[in-house]
Amino acid sequence: MQTQQLNRTYLPKTKRKDQSGTYKEVQPCTDVLTAPSLLQALMLLKVVFVAALASFTVGKNCRILPTDPSWPTQDVWDAFNNSVDGRLVKTIPLGSPCHDPTFDQEQCDIIQSNWNIPEFHEPSSSSMMDPIFLNKSCDPFDPRDTPCRIGAYVQYAVNISTSDQVIKTIEFVKQHDIRFVVRNTGHDYMGRSTGTGALAVWMHYLQDIDWIPNFKSANYTGSALKVQPGVLGFDLITEAHNRGVVTVSGECPSVGYAGGFIQGGGYGALSSSYGMAADQTLEFEVITTQGKLVRASLEENQDLYWALSGGGGGAYGIVWSITVKAHQDLPVTIASLNFTSDGISQDLYWQAIDAYQAITPNLTDAKLWAFTSYQTSAFSLYPVYGVNKTVTEVMATLRPLLNTLDSMGINYTTGADTFNTYLDAYNSGTIFKNLQVGNAIFDSRLLPRSIWDSSEKLASLQKIIRGLVNQNRIVADFTQSATLEVAGHPLNAVLPAWRNSLKYFTLGVPLTDGESLVQTTQQQNQVATNISPLKQLTPGSGAYLNEAALNDPDFKIDFYGPNYNKLLQIKDKWDPDQILYGSISVGGDRWHETDEGRLCRT
Ligand SMILES: Cc1cc2nc3c(=O)[nH]c(=O)nc-3n(C[C@H](O)[C@H](O)[C@H](O)COP(=O)(O)OP(=O)(O)OC[C@H]3O[C@@H](n4cnc5c(N)ncnc54)[C@H](O)[C@@H]3O)c2cc1C
Repeated sequence: MQTQQLNRTYLPKTKRKDQSGTYKEVQPCTDVLTAPSLLQALMLLKVVFVAALASFTVGKNCRILPTDPSWPTQDVWDAFNNSVDGRLVKTIPLGSPCHDPTFDQEQCDIIQSNWNIPEFHEPSSSSMMDPIFLNKSCDPFDPRDTPCRIGAYVQYAVNISTSDQVIKTIEFVKQHDIRFVVRNTGHDYMGRSTGTGALAVWMHYLQDIDWIPNFKSANYTGSALKVQPGVLGFDLITEAHNRGVVTVSGECPSVGYAGGFIQGGGYGALSSSYGMAADQTLEFEVITTQGKLVRASLEENQDLYWALSGGGGGAYGIVWSITVKAHQDLPVTIASLNFTSDGISQDLYWQAIDAYQAITPNLTDAKLWAFTSYQTSAFSLYPVYGVNKTVTEVMATLRPLLNTLDSMGINYTTGADTFNTYLDAYNSGTIFKNLQVGNAIFDSRLLPRSIWDSSEKLASLQKIIRGLVNQNRIVADFTQSATLEVAGHPLNAVLPAWRNSLKYFTLGVPLTDGESLVQTTQQQNQVATNISPLKQLTPGSGAYLNEAALNDPDFKIDFYGPNYNKLLQIKDKWDPDQILYGSISVGGDRWHETDEGRLCRT
């Protein structure tokens, strides 16, 4: 059995492909219930009692927990470990060196200073980049004498190297009624890659990319890339670059490609040119929860192909590979526009932002893609991506805005540069490379074109944005248009609201390291309150299911829209035993978590 130790530095990329298990044994946290005090003995009795009670409720209705008598014994785990080629990893929470009895000041300092960096969590078999899902289990910012518990981390993960190991793991969880999790990088903002008492298949070290120069199917002829489930977005665009092609990947380099990203739709800087990432899928190899490796494409198992292309990660099957379209790499121009409120009134500053907001359709009609961040004293439009566009062409699109800013007397800076390839353009900036995690709770809304058809609605949008900025929210949006025309009318489950939206708007409420669960819940409620005026402004639109409020009561409509019922039927066909679960996934409302984290049918 493998256990993980803290990496003092990030795993270098060459080690990512290491399938042999390079981790060394470290001391796990001592079970907090074994200390010999009377109080703890009583607590132990209580646990035994609760466990005995629980054994009546587990089985078909609930998943079991390690405190249950029916939890597999060590011998059973050892036998299972042998059956998966010794690749079972027992969870030691990443934060354990920050707690007694394994406290280590030096390691704890490293953990705390890297806690918000995605790459720090990525090589872990259990960590979540968004620690709110860990329910304060072994929080490195909690006092040293606070117990370190596995809690909401998965109990074990199988570091998958063969499809047979996935099938064996599914058989094992079914046999014992253990909660099952599919995890890749642990990036998920929706908590789907962790779970109390769960056993995970950890797909992260499956990192091969195959180049297919002549892929042929009934609907597509051209070059393609076949991607294993652990490939990261940045590694894919680098490999694509080496082949002279591109595909749509996410902005943060460490987001996985074939897991939650593409299965949830997936947007990126090339979306205004080629559509969503899910629009690029040609074929999946999928391991079903019935233990079969099947192919899903437009020609074979079309329903599964449709659902996996945008209907949400970890809900229909375990993706073993995805083959996606590759497009010719073309020169890319990147432009920027910045101004501040220095020396001008807040009203004038916001009028300048109004002028920017009004030209949004010009940007999307020109197939540009852009990131905008709004603050009380600084506005930034950067990067603006123009694929196969010259500096002159991109600046011509911005020119009417610049003229307006000139007439308003706004002091702005602007610039543009053309790069030979998409990767060169991507590497020219660090804005997305330095993204942090775990320091905010996000929600999102897709802003439809109809807002720009009505001066009244546009004014309301501006008022809402200004209000949010003034409340110190993190306010940003992505200007993009992944219309069906751009995407080529793919048959998939991408939320239709993406097709007529001109902006993908994100709102964040900052979190503080080590804050209490009560505070976090308050922040979560605040996000819901803050997004509500935008929901009212955009009835019938939706949110991005990968980056939205976990407690959205309208999640079926907001994340899946008219596709929900069809997706549910497909889920029931391919996952009849409901092995795959996520609280906001299709079918997620059939389950609930009890206070102790046990997953039970509703
Ligand atoms: C810093 C940051 C930046 C981001 N930037 C972008 C962006 O630019 N564009 C964008 O679209 N999104 C972006 N996202 C959101 C991202 O797409 C989601 O968080 C996504 O769920 C991550 O997928 P993952 O596989 O890497 O993560 P995980 O947390 O490991 O998995 C996420 C989900 O996918 C499932 N899953 C993973 N692997 C498989 C598999 N092989 N088969 C079936 N299900 C699987 C899991 O069960 C889970 O439900 C960003 C997120 C973060 C934290």
